[in-house]
Amino acid sequence: MYFTDAHEELRMHIRRFLEKEVQPHLEEWEEKTFPDAIFERLGELGFLGLRYPAEYGGQGGDYFSAVVLSEEMARAGSGGLGMAVAVQTEMATPPVFKFGTEEQKRRWLAPAIQGKQIASIAITEPDAGSDVAGISTVARRLGDEFIVNGRKTFITNGARCHWALVVTKSERDRGHAGYNLLVIEKGTPGFEVTRTLKKLGMHSSDTAELLFDDCHVPVTNLIGEEGEGFKNLMWELQGERMITAAGAIAGAQRVFEYTMDYARNRQAFGQPIANFQVIKHRLVDMGTKIASAQAFVYQTAKLWDQGEYPVRQISQAKLMATQVACEVADDAIQILGGHGYMREFPVERAWRDARLARIGAGTDEILKEIIAKSYGL
Ligand SMILES: Cc1cc2nc3c(=O)[nH]c(=O)nc-3n(C[C@H](O)[C@H](O)[C@H](O)COP(=O)(O)OP(=O)(O)OC[C@H]3O[C@@H](n4cnc5c(N)ncnc54)[C@H](O)[C@@H]3O)c2cc1C
Repeated sequence: MYFTDAHEELRMHIRRFLEKEVQPHLEEWEEKTFPDAIFERLGELGFLGLRYPAEYGGQGGDYFSAVVLSEEMARAGSGGLGMAVAVQTEMATPPVFKFGTEEQKRRWLAPAIQGKQIASIAITEPDAGSDVAGISTVARRLGDEFIVNGRKTFITNGARCHWALVVTKSERDRGHAGYNLLVIEKGTPGFEVTRTLKKLGMHSSDTAELLFDDCHVPVTNLIGEEGEGFKNLMWELQGERMITAAGAIAGAQRVFEYTMDYARNRQAFGQPIANFQVIKHRLVDMGTKIASAQAFVYQTAKLWDQGEYPVRQISQAKLMATQVACEVADDAIQILGGHGYMREFPVERAWRDARLARIGAGTDEILKEIIAKSYGL
């Protein structure tokens, strides 16, 4: 219903690449994060611009080509790499494409599609995450420049990025009209990576704290109209949630298949554990939840692909898919028993990686607030 032969061909192309060039290194990358060169390789293969137009080096595909990439990254088993790539293709670059000028697209979008530049998006601050309007990174307009001061935290690709799309506010309170999205390039005096953070999962990705200390940023780095940053960020967050949902459910499917296989082969009391009704039913519940969440994710992705702005559905899809992914990973650990808790079995990493998706791109609670509002509650 959603995928054409071309999508399936793309899927196989991505899968072969991941099996050959990525999966053999995943264990090592979990220890010390993946090399930056992987972006160039992904760019060379065209995977970083699947749905961007050819004039910027993209492949001109539809939204389902992005879904295919996200699903295959999840299937490969590294949440960290999948997240880093999604930040590049579905979070940091979309606003440049949608709201940027021609010159900005040539300068930041095209090299990101080629994998020659790595991008990050910097919204969260030490004192403001869910409450985006509560950020305190200030961009003060001074002639042809903005002077930026503030801190961002938990920034994926933050340590390795060439530029960050930074959410800022004006020095005077202008309500939602006071926010701006600025591209700030590494090497800009005052832009510093203050530390990289250790975390529960997503180990192959880097997560950094950034400092902007009297950073002079040319007005030409403003993405979109001045004062429209908040509105444009809300649009960006829809795409972020949509792709998170797609990746989460594909990750759950992988864990489910692995667990089913394990249960068929693991013997206890003289028979495969899959013969025990309690295990069988647990597997059935896992598969059923995945199937229903996946159908809703695809249905919602179709609306997004058609240019609709289905905020309620996207919030519901992300909420449901990420909760299902966590439940499935937890059930998988239970079915694998002690093996499930061991690093050498893939569900342990899946369990740790999956947890983030219920926090990043809008926590469960924030999504419920959005959904409630959409019902007029
Ligand atoms: C590994 C990792 C990578 C990340 N990558 C990025 C990135 O690349 N760029 C970026 O900008 N950010 C990134 N984030 C940050 C992420 O988006 C935030 O952690 C998330 O938005 C939540 O913000 P917070 O952590 O400040 O939690 P808080 O906002 O402090 O929330 C704490 C708790 O309070 C609840 N809460 C808050 N407000 C309400 C409310 N109104 N009603 C009910 N409950 C509420 C929340 O749901 C949560 O349970 C990343 C985070 C992690 C852990």
